[in-house]
Amino acid sequence: MTLIAPGRSSGFQSLERIPVTHLKRVGPRIAERLARLGIRTVQDLLFHLPVRYQDRTRLLPIGELIVGEDALIEGEVSEANIAFGRRRSLKVWLADGASAGVLLRFFHFSPQQVAAFKPGARVRCYGEVRQGHDSLEMVHPECRFQNEIATETESRLTPIYPSTEGLQQSAWRGLIEQALGWLAHLPPAEYLPEETLDPLALPGLVEALRYLHHPPLGTSLVDILERRHPAFLRLAFEELVAHQVSLRRMRASQGTIAAPVLAGDGGLRQRLRAALPFQLTEAQERVATEIAADLLQDRPMQRLLQGDVGAGKTVVAALAALQSIEAGCQAALMAPTELLSEQHHRSLTAWLTPLGVESLWLAGRHKGRERAELLESIASGRARLVVGTHALFQDEVTFRDLGLVIIDEQHRFGVHQRMKLREKGGRNGGAPHQLIMTATPIPRSLAMTLYADLDLSVIDTLPPGRTPIVTVAVPDSRRDDVIERVRMACGQGRQTYWVCTLIDESEALECQAAEETARQLGERLPGVRIGLVHGRLKSADRDAVMVGFAGGELDLLVATTVIEVGVDVANASLMIIENPERLGLSQLHQLRGRVGRGAVESHCLLLYHAPLSAVARERLGIIRATASGFEIAERDLALRGAGEVLGTRQTGTVQFRVADPVRDQALVTPAQRAADLILARYPDAVEPLVARWMGNREAYGQV
Ligand code: ADP
Ligand code: MG
Repeated sequence: MTLIAPGRSSGFQSLERIPVTHLKRVGPRIAERLARLGIRTVQDLLFHLPVRYQDRTRLLPIGELIVGEDALIEGEVSEANIAFGRRRSLKVWLADGASAGVLLRFFHFSPQQVAAFKPGARVRCYGEVRQGHDSLEMVHPECRFQNEIATETESRLTPIYPSTEGLQQSAWRGLIEQALGWLAHLPPAEYLPEETLDPLALPGLVEALRYLHHPPLGTSLVDILERRHPAFLRLAFEELVAHQVSLRRMRASQGTIAAPVLAGDGGLRQRLRAALPFQLTEAQERVATEIAADLLQDRPMQRLLQGDVGAGKTVVAALAALQSIEAGCQAALMAPTELLSEQHHRSLTAWLTPLGVESLWLAGRHKGRERAELLESIASGRARLVVGTHALFQDEVTFRDLGLVIIDEQHRFGVHQRMKLREKGGRNGGAPHQLIMTATPIPRSLAMTLYADLDLSVIDTLPPGRTPIVTVAVPDSRRDDVIERVRMACGQGRQTYWVCTLIDESEALECQAAEETARQLGERLPGVRIGLVHGRLKSADRDAVMVGFAGGELDLLVATTVIEVGVDVANASLMIIENPERLGLSQLHQLRGRVGRGAVESHCLLLYHAPLSAVARERLGIIRATASGFEIAERDLALRGAGEVLGTRQTGTVQFRVADPVRDQALVTPAQRAADLILARYPDAVEPLVARWMGNREAYGQV
């Protein structure tokens, strides 16, 4: 790999000023792909750290393979054939003299590949070792044949970078290599005061970055994977500081912004309460009071309302909206998808229309005249409650006098989007109050770190009279029984979700798996009306399928984890989750919350792949025995880090890149202190520090 000659850099003073397009082999197309990940400068590239590393530094004898671990092996093909089972596959047996050998399996393969695996061929493979029926297996390992096998193994750990479509790992390595060349020439600015770093005895920034991109031979893979190495801690600390600085700054600026005092006469709220078929729970009353008090202040409320799936957040939101409306202001409610926003609109209008309160739903499908009329209704103030997606942020949407914004499922919206909402304020130039609702249970301690700019309200009990969901774990050897169960449920007019998951692999593979499953279930279940949703469908198409399912036109919905958030189909009482052992507990709990919304008892079948590790067994045990999302989150935290609790993978919570406020707890207090110091004494460091870690992330919070 040749390094770019930094001598050409003369114009640049710092890494954050060098655009990626200045690097070799970065044209507009690559630049656009990098921008999708928020990478625009050489500094951004250097702070794009590997998610994991592969050890291709040594060949492992086939007899020493360990299930669940990645390994580099080499051997001779003893046999290869195409099997026609549930799914056509190419099976190749590889042996290295000793031991029973290992089975390589391919579900996608070309005739050339079949020919290449002729008996006697020498192959080097890298992949994850799994326990198959009769032997160890590797599914779709990376393979090199005799003529391509370099005699040497790699001399250091191979970093694997988080990527986006159209950027191969080899491309990443080339880019990072060039960025490291610049790093030597132009070290990044140090924004942390020495007195904050010294007591922690952490390495310098340059050393840490170099180490993480190029871990030397002999590095303990465990240390580095579990993020215990000082190089990680150095960056984690800086990130925590940047995060705290940004939140504190935001919090401070709230105190200087005016908000409308929402002092209504309580009339509408009274009438809503009287019309409800139930009494609010104590927990709902408590948080409603907290919110009502905030709305009487002349500073914008910034409150996070947490409550498990089904805890009854919507009615609390409705009361808050009515308080704004009573005071002569509008209210807006935003949900992460059109489907969810439509559902909200439906349930809210059922409550508000009898009170004579006009509400309106604004969606992407509203076009032309219709759209113009809706926009006019918002601008004139005729629409008192406006429901929609983040499209409500758009410039074309002008409110007459917006008093309150309610955001459902907070984790889809980023901090910066919330900031932007302020601009939607009312005619007097004030900012609206903000209520952010989430069903992602976050333990209080963690919430205080993550959302230091927000006040916290928690609905900690469910309304009475819920039938718990019966959750059972079933090995996938009993898949046929499970399919039979689906047939029966659908036959009885009960709807079913079938969730396909493939964590750690690309979204593309996950979508493929869902397509394949839908096809197979279609063959096995004639007469059952099957719909399919996954992340690669256009959101309008996805919504169309979801609407069909919600309307009872589909019996069975095959989905990837995109259905995780908030869909409410009361008639769905059975859910199958494939590979539950690969999901976080909170994510499982959220998924499971899609059923159990109607009167009949609901069931959730966790279709796992045997054998389970001890930890996996414990985790599935927790999910079976525990109904409370908060309890699950606490136990999840004890078992794993914060990233998993938050479900970073699909939800777009790009809150932290390196740090993990749970794992790195010891750094949290020093980071808070450092943030105070920087804000007080080093104001010039504030902007560039926040920009380095949080700036310009377009992907942030997008669905
Ligand atoms: P979530 O917190 O998940 O948004 P919802 O607001 O959708 O929950 O409430 C779930 C269901 O519980 C709704 O049908 C709602 O009308 C009902 N509900 C809310 N509060 C109560 C209560 N205090 N008693 C009985 N049912 C309630
Ligand atoms: Mg809800």
